[in-house]
Amino acid sequence: MLEIKDLTIRYGEFLAVDKVDLEVKPGEIVGIIGPNGAGKTSLLNAVAGIVDPAGGSLSFEGMALPGVPADERLARGLVLVPEIRGIFGMMSVHENLLMGAYLCRDKAEVARRMERVFTLFPILRDRRRQLAGTMSGGQQQMVAIGAGLMAAPRLLMLDEPSIGLAPLIIQDIGRTLTALRAEGLTILLSEQNAKLATAIADRIYVLQSGRVMMARSTESLLEDPKFVEAFLSLA
Ligand code: ATP
Repeated sequence: MLEIKDLTIRYGEFLAVDKVDLEVKPGEIVGIIGPNGAGKTSLLNAVAGIVDPAGGSLSFEGMALPGVPADERLARGLVLVPEIRGIFGMMSVHENLLMGAYLCRDKAEVARRMERVFTLFPILRDRRRQLAGTMSGGQQQMVAIGAGLMAAPRLLMLDEPSIGLAPLIIQDIGRTLTALRAEGLTILLSEQNAKLATAIADRIYVLQSGRVMMARSTESLLEDPKFVEAFLSLA
């Protein structure tokens, strides 16, 4: 579904992503884990069309991405839920969700998508008139994921959804993402929280200083004492 080869991203002289290969197949949850500054956000931004890569090839469902504007990628179902939620704090929950569907002109379809989000996150229905900025961190993340779903993703990319959230809320997010995958959604997840990523992903890429250090099934990583010690012993 998503194929990335030799992806290189530079900020001036600084090499943030160095010849990364990554693949996501339909129906998978793929995790990218790595510390602060590893290049996770840069990689997702390059896929979404927010950052221009210096080199490499990216394709989504057979469409070469370089040169395709971000809104066209979104229209094709390539949806990014950005780091630190990226919601509009001074707008209501309902307005934030509508923003997610801004490319859709069919009101009945927008209503169907909204209903699906409210079924997934019932609290958002109860609080639909509340200003999003006044909600708890976990609820704001629900708004952010909900807005992403309103764009009718084929591949949902989430940039560190667990950031700043309590362990129980992080578990809830994990359950939600697993439920979405069971409905057929494909997910690419960037996380510093290796516990969440290993709990839900089929395969994991470990990124460090812009390079892929490991790319393996979650099952095999969890059997690797070096991985467990480096990423899970303190989690
Ligand atoms: P974080 O968890 O902090 O978001 P990350 O793994 O997502 O980390 P990136 O945000 O992609 O990493 O950053 C990779 C590197 O590129 C970091 O060293 C960062 O400082 C640098 N970087 C990111 N964006 C820019 C920018 N716009 N200009 C210059 N350097 C940048």
